[in-house]
Amino acid sequence: MKLSKTNFITYLDCKKNAWLKIHKPNIYHQYPLSSFEQNIIDSGNEIDKLARGLFLDGTTVESRDDTELTLKLIDKKEPVIYQPVFATEKFITASDILVWNSENNIYDLYEVKASTSSEDGGSGKTKDYIKDIAFQKIVLDKIGIHIGSMNLIRLNKEYIRQGKIILRELFIIEDLTEEVNSILEKTKEDMEMAYNFLSSDIEPRGHCDCIFKGKNSHCTTSKYSNYDLPEYPVHAIARIHKTKLTELVDSKIFDINDVPEDFELSENQRRQVDTAQSGKTYINREGILEFLETIKYPIAFLDYETYPSALPRYDGYRPYQQIPFQFSLHIVESPESEELHFDFIYTGEKAPDKLFAEALQKHLPKTGSVVVWNQKFEKGINEQIGERLPDYQLFMKEVNDRVVDLMIPFSGKTLVYDHPEFKGSASIKYVLPALVPHLSYKNMHIQEGGTASDTWNRIVSGEYSKDDKEIKTQALKDYCHLDTLAMVEIWRVLNSV
Ligand code: SF4
Repeated sequence: MKLSKTNFITYLDCKKNAWLKIHKPNIYHQYPLSSFEQNIIDSGNEIDKLARGLFLDGTTVESRDDTELTLKLIDKKEPVIYQPVFATEKFITASDILVWNSENNIYDLYEVKASTSSEDGGSGKTKDYIKDIAFQKIVLDKIGIHIGSMNLIRLNKEYIRQGKIILRELFIIEDLTEEVNSILEKTKEDMEMAYNFLSSDIEPRGHCDCIFKGKNSHCTTSKYSNYDLPEYPVHAIARIHKTKLTELVDSKIFDINDVPEDFELSENQRRQVDTAQSGKTYINREGILEFLETIKYPIAFLDYETYPSALPRYDGYRPYQQIPFQFSLHIVESPESEELHFDFIYTGEKAPDKLFAEALQKHLPKTGSVVVWNQKFEKGINEQIGERLPDYQLFMKEVNDRVVDLMIPFSGKTLVYDHPEFKGSASIKYVLPALVPHLSYKNMHIQEGGTASDTWNRIVSGEYSKDDKEIKTQALKDYCHLDTLAMVEIWRVLNSV
């Protein structure tokens, strides 16, 4: 086995997953990539290719294992090489770009990442990138290819597109030579350990490390490694601390129904456990009433769909800034009236901003509440539209001032309604089937936001035939329509109690 850089990074993230990826790929790949994950890969490839424009006229090593061609190109001091591949007995790596530095008579290395994170971003990403480059440096050293500077090329989150993309402004090049050199010894040790662990055919036994972590950390192979976890495990207790979880797991308490009455939990966690164990809905009528009184007629139930393009697609956009391309709007004018529906979707070639804002201004009632699910998202989009379209800034601000978040009664400290089927989640995907069983995302062509986003991207990228484009556009409309209809029905359920 040759350990690739990608598998080494997977190992650093989770040893068990890296082992499964290599030895039991059918388990590791049992679920297809989500649209979100696929989009990350596609964006990475797109940004990789684009960054080559910073060092023009390079030669590409097309095959992922063509070390021979790579060495030939290095021997003849090819000025720029894209995707060179290097291997030792144990390790194999591709680099993104090598550039011959004629001043120092040495190659400089450039690693491209479709990320906007910086050293102080708090995501830990840059640390991973340093390890990624260190892996390459160690392999290159081992085969006698010396490297000058080691650099990270990443997206500049402050860049705002105006006209043609300017690569020198879109990308930031960070010299990480010192940082990489400082972790070489440690990385060498890690690489040896990873090699020994991953080249062994013997599968790591027992639960994986996430047995001591909350549900949000669990990956798609969790069910395989932690096969004895029940349908509603203690890991789903909202915001449960690691020490508490460890206490439960060490006592072999995996099922939320087995959590003892005297086990110390926060008020919210205890209520979640009680709701699960009793199977009874928790209803705080006063709290619900108080919340409902914040909603004023005419009520506009509003939901957006957006696409985060790594590469700013239109003027005024930064990398990864969400492109709002669709909204659905249900309006309930008075307690007696039936809901009305309006929607907007843009699948043309230009920026949708102006048409989106115009349509919203046209259909949204001038007064009353604007009800959304998870206000941070819609409010953020409104602010950004206002920044890009000064003529609509005031309108967007006024919309934001009228926003009421329908998620509030179902989440965190503000929770006044709980149901065993919510399983500690305030997502509308859990709340809707529990409260309004006749409405469901299950039979929809599009069932979640990531797929909606990806579908729109494929439509505007011209990937569909005319007929398919119509079908996909209708599927997007149906999905967004259900999002706002769901809010209307959930609001009715709250009123009914
Ligand atoms: S559930 Fe956690 S520890 Fe287990 S394989 Fe997945 S990421 Fe790794």
